[in-house]
Amino acid sequence: MNTLKTKQRLLGSRCLESAFFLPVVVLLACGSTQPNTDLENPLETTTIKTKPSFVQRTTASKNFDGSRAWEHLRQQVSCGPRPAGSVALAVCRNYIVQQLRSLGILVEEQPFTATTPIGPIPMVNVIAKIQGSKNDRLGIASHYDTKRFNNFRFVGANDGGSSVAVLLELARVLTERQNPYTIELLFFDGEESTLPQWRDPDNTYGSRYYVQSSQKQGSLTSLRTLILLDLVGDKNLSFRREANSTRWLTEVIWSTAKQLGYQAYFLNEVMAVEDDHIPFLRYGIPAVNIVDLDYNAWHTPADTLEAVSERSLQIVGEVVLKALGEIEQRLASGL
Ligand SMILES: [Zn+2]
Repeated sequence: MNTLKTKQRLLGSRCLESAFFLPVVVLLACGSTQPNTDLENPLETTTIKTKPSFVQRTTASKNFDGSRAWEHLRQQVSCGPRPAGSVALAVCRNYIVQQLRSLGILVEEQPFTATTPIGPIPMVNVIAKIQGSKNDRLGIASHYDTKRFNNFRFVGANDGGSSVAVLLELARVLTERQNPYTIELLFFDGEESTLPQWRDPDNTYGSRYYVQSSQKQGSLTSLRTLILLDLVGDKNLSFRREANSTRWLTEVIWSTAKQLGYQAYFLNEVMAVEDDHIPFLRYGIPAVNIVDLDYNAWHTPADTLEAVSERSLQIVGEVVLKALGEIEQRLASGL
């Protein structure tokens, strides 16, 4: 979202050197042939050391696991700069799609060509559906592109990487859950402006395309709410209530965070941010943006793994998951 900086730089992708969840897919995606010698996944380690019972493992798998989210973040960063239209973004998209499909989730790629100030750019939204008891959908969204800069290497650990990472781990947890509403996970392309400055309409290409296309198909009204995540991995997490967001949804997120003891990270201050939720709000879809723009490394070369933390991903994942239950109850009670 918002303002700042210069041009573009493609690729240089060192890609996904540690095959974690899906070695075969990762090899296909990146051409890396290095074996997985990495044992930093605590789940794996726990399994090896203690051989937990089936029940213990089942219980653990229903909870949001920040270490799994962290691995998704690391994999994206290892793809390097991922601006819309780049080969690196296609590699990243392949990783996202394969991770979702490995969970048995239906995934649709929604390609389109965006008309931008720097020329036409092919873009692709990724839409994943976890069928619930009702066909009405609750959306959880993030952008997966990173902003293009020509004068430095920008890998977007937080801006792009963190929210996708949380969505992918949420996908795993939500497939284990009884969902009263269908969950739609949305990975938008082209959120970032192609030019250094954020000027309409040079931004939010993917979300605008999704909304227009759903509107044409008549499927937009069955999208009941949208939770948008952006910049959710800062080591020093501090969310402010986003001023454009639907009030009751914001309230649900903030009160849930408080119930979980995370009020220190969800401040009672207000800040307006233009982001992928705006096109939804324009069409009357209740939407909330969980975004931490109080991030020193924002749109700088310092937006790397050192600036983000697994703990922050864990906090956001827990809050969204618990808030989802509250949102479902409110909708069911006819809000
Ligand atoms: Zn950005």
